[in-house]
Amino acid sequence: MSYKAHHERSISDPDGFWGEQAKLIHWEKPFDTVLNYDNPPFAKWFEGGLTNLCYNSVDRHAKERPNQIALVAVSTETNKEKAYTFQELYEEVNRIAAIYKANGIQKGDRVLIYMPMIAEACFAMLACARIGAIHSVVFGGFASHSLASRIDDAKPKMIVTAEAGMRGGKAVPYKPLLDEAITLASYKPEKVLLVNRGLSEFTSVAGRDLDYAAERQKHLNDIVPVEWVDATHPSYILYTSGTTGKPKGVQRDTGGYAVALMASMNHIFCGKAGETMFTTSDIGWVVGHSYIIYGPLLNGMATIMYEGTPLRPDAGIWWELVAKYKVSVMFSAPTAVRVLKKQDPAFLTKHDLSSLRTLFLAGEPLDEPTASWIHDAIKKPVVDNYWQTETGWPILAIQRGIEVMPHKFGSPGVPSFGYNMKLLDDATSVELGPDQKGVIAIEGPLPPGCMQTVWGDDKRFVSTYWETIPGKLIYSTFDWGIKDKDGYFFILGRTDDVINVAGHRLGTREIEESISSHPNISEVAVVGIEDKLKGQAAIAFVIPKDSSKAENLEKECMKTVDSQLGAIARPGRVYVVSALPKTRSGKIVRRALQAVAEGRDPGDISTMEDQTVLAQIKTIIEQSA
Ligand code: ATP
Ligand code: MG
Repeated sequence: MSYKAHHERSISDPDGFWGEQAKLIHWEKPFDTVLNYDNPPFAKWFEGGLTNLCYNSVDRHAKERPNQIALVAVSTETNKEKAYTFQELYEEVNRIAAIYKANGIQKGDRVLIYMPMIAEACFAMLACARIGAIHSVVFGGFASHSLASRIDDAKPKMIVTAEAGMRGGKAVPYKPLLDEAITLASYKPEKVLLVNRGLSEFTSVAGRDLDYAAERQKHLNDIVPVEWVDATHPSYILYTSGTTGKPKGVQRDTGGYAVALMASMNHIFCGKAGETMFTTSDIGWVVGHSYIIYGPLLNGMATIMYEGTPLRPDAGIWWELVAKYKVSVMFSAPTAVRVLKKQDPAFLTKHDLSSLRTLFLAGEPLDEPTASWIHDAIKKPVVDNYWQTETGWPILAIQRGIEVMPHKFGSPGVPSFGYNMKLLDDATSVELGPDQKGVIAIEGPLPPGCMQTVWGDDKRFVSTYWETIPGKLIYSTFDWGIKDKDGYFFILGRTDDVINVAGHRLGTREIEESISSHPNISEVAVVGIEDKLKGQAAIAFVIPKDSSKAENLEKECMKTVDSQLGAIARPGRVYVVSALPKTRSGKIVRRALQAVAEGRDPGDISTMEDQTVLAQIKTIIEQSA
């Protein structure tokens, strides 16, 4: 079937289309309806159907392929590598499910998981799904304040943690941060289950803290029956990255998520049971939930969990793993590729990458130099895909399992099946024609797998996402873009980042793309700041590849923009910096740059990786004023 026919059917006949996709998972009891959209924008998929995410990810494969590898946990920090078969994964998940049960965790209770990238984190997630508990994984890099606010929001009965993670060869203690977070939070969890890796000292709270190894020993041979839950039962809560402000607690269902992930594994990622998928993200992010844990396992694939940086022991480590485990599908982020790009490509090319079919990249705009560099190094298709924590799986992608359509540079491709995409004028909500700029929106119902609501706050779900485009109940992605005549979308930045220069609206991405074509630019961020004459003016922050040749970089960047986009887009200033403020998932925090450039307070920066970067930039701005 052609992409076009496939997509059209998914929109015009959702019952038929998704009813068929639903056959990809096991239903303990068939659903009554495919879609119930009686109360928009709340979509209920596969209502009345009983299923279970853990059963679909583990049990069915443990029966059919018990000795096949399911999970490989690799740590280049502790130099440990351990593979688990589906049978072994089944046993480990049952043990931790038994620990949950013994501690009174029931269907619907929340379990917060604050862990490094170790196998136990995967067991802990799947064990929640097994008993119908709702997990809330919080990225291990978050400190106590961010963790406390997530504890208060999710109200977990239990928190699963480890005493430490490890990064760059150094132990990063988690337990003291968790203790502090619990002190800060108003809500108090009953129990803390701790995996002691022997990496750092810690203190235990008697009566509250449980040692995982000791508890596991008590339940070595326990089998916990699967809790069959309605397809609409929440499987997890996950907070958005916090790039634009206060994170939103995304609530996901069970049945729709399982079906959508399986459909995406078939039509987008094209992975097959028995193969290996390697996703370099972290379980604290949506990419980790969908494509480290659930997607590959649902599909009967082995998945690799990796603890470490892409550069240790050398910049070839990820590709060494590709060769060793015959990875067929790999998924990473542009920010990681930019890290590798500073190294010799020989680190990659010396490994046997013949098993690898495709590299997927998502999370932020994929710039041309980064895309070309990685493509030239691995000589495999590089597939940009665009989505959000909210949607759980790609909104835009070239769907190679349906039709291998040409890639267009700068575009993550075309709408995925089930997504009824619109490009709208954000003031009038008029649908725009080819090459006009507007806000990227999704006509409801959102397809299976997307968020059900904001955890505990239906009103916030409606007001945040569905009421921002005047006169229309439509989901806003808060991203700004264009669609070309062939239906390919191009992301031009976030709606918050659109710059209005003398009445012309420009996406920051357009200007960044232009500046990054300068040969001495390694990274760039553009923001709009207030300008008395023009309303707003663009300001650029650039990291040069070679800072000894950065003397005239400001003028050169301006010239590049002039010739490519016109003088209207020319940045008022180009500041040469050594680092950009980023979230812990590697996204540039433009709102903070903008605040600093306008001399304002940057506000909440707790989701930021390195808080000193902003201070450095402030100094650079002040010195060059
Ligand atoms: P918050 O919503 O809390 O501000 P966030 O939007 O960064 O944080 P995520 O859900 O992790 O949280 O990121 C989704 C966003 O990342 C998208 O809305 C888009 O702006 C950006 N993005 C993701 N993939 C791509 C891509 N392939 N190309 C361009 N932008 C992308
Ligand atoms: Mg967002």
